[in-house]
Amino acid sequence: MARLIFEGVSKLFDGHPALDGISAEIGSGEFVALLGPSGCGKTTLLRLTAGFEKPDRGTLSLGDRALAGPGRFVPPEERNIGIVFQSYALWPHMTVARNVAYPLETRGVSAPERRRRVDEALRLTGLSALAERAPAQLSGGQRQRVALARCLVAEPRAVLLDEPLANLDLALRGAMQEAFAAFHRRTGATMLYVTHDQTEALALADRVAVMQDGKIRQFAPPEQLYDRPQDCFVAGFVGDGSVVPVRIAGSLTPSGIAVEAMGQRIVAHGLDRNPTHICIRPEQVVLNGDSPLRARVSACSYQGGRFRLVLETAGESLVIHSPQRARIGEELGVTIHRPWAFRDESLMPRFAHELVDA
Ligand code: ATP
Repeated sequence: MARLIFEGVSKLFDGHPALDGISAEIGSGEFVALLGPSGCGKTTLLRLTAGFEKPDRGTLSLGDRALAGPGRFVPPEERNIGIVFQSYALWPHMTVARNVAYPLETRGVSAPERRRRVDEALRLTGLSALAERAPAQLSGGQRQRVALARCLVAEPRAVLLDEPLANLDLALRGAMQEAFAAFHRRTGATMLYVTHDQTEALALADRVAVMQDGKIRQFAPPEQLYDRPQDCFVAGFVGDGSVVPVRIAGSLTPSGIAVEAMGQRIVAHGLDRNPTHICIRPEQVVLNGDSPLRARVSACSYQGGRFRLVLETAGESLVIHSPQRARIGEELGVTIHRPWAFRDESLMPRFAHELVDA
């Protein structure tokens, strides 16, 4: 397996950038998820890596080999990159074992070598017992594992997965997530996994690249994206909670920074002396009848074992988890414990203006 490196990669469709200066390095054996809303460029980045698209600017390399760049383009069949799509595209008239062996047959690999590699791929994907079945006799999750085994058998240098679980029901998706994680642990494959499901991205990946409008907004481990988002888009897109504008009420100290939000002084933690926003996660909002911060319940939904409440206060919404159901319209007191404070540069002009007004 090898490192994948993107340097200033851009791709235009009809003059519009689908990818806009992507620079990122995916370590050898790393599992990276590309996460973002529809149309942000995830699939384009994957197709470009596979060699189905050419970049208009920038370079792409795998290990020490340049795959695409000025004056250079390695075609897909010479890249040795495996791809697993949403649709499994299995041959219906072939057994599982034959389907998996197919890429080796077309390359003229000898029968004993084929058998060894197919057995290994079936073992890694937990399919050994199903080797003689036809695809029609398999569940959706099992078919997806056949597609994964077929990709692996060619011993690719990296594996690309394009929403591989999108066609599966929720229970099966959970089980398949575990299967992918176990597969990654066993093979140490370099994996690039496209999804618009943040739960999947946070659960599976070593690092997640959050994309918007053809750009990577933040590329970090799941906990860091959740606890320390870099801008309003990432804070709002990844994880539950709310993003609230603040005014600075104190200086940055090792114990935090005091900010003013929703008419309250709140001690936040952060790295910036001049934060513009706080990101408040549900576990940072605590019910407290004595608190001067009063909020009205606008939504209450059961999530199994707890309720998710949305509270309105001073024009902002807060999300809180509660063991008890609440009435819509009910007024509750809450305190906010150490939310994350950050500075969103993209919103600075508006904020600079507001601070002058204040
Ligand atoms: P989704 O989650 O909906 O699959 P995505 O993040 O994978 O979205 P892409 O498919 O990469 O997004 O598309 C990025 C942008 O490029 C979109 O605006 C899309 O309309 C445009 N685009 C993608 N492929 C083409 C193409 N072949 N011709 C023209 N425009 C394209």
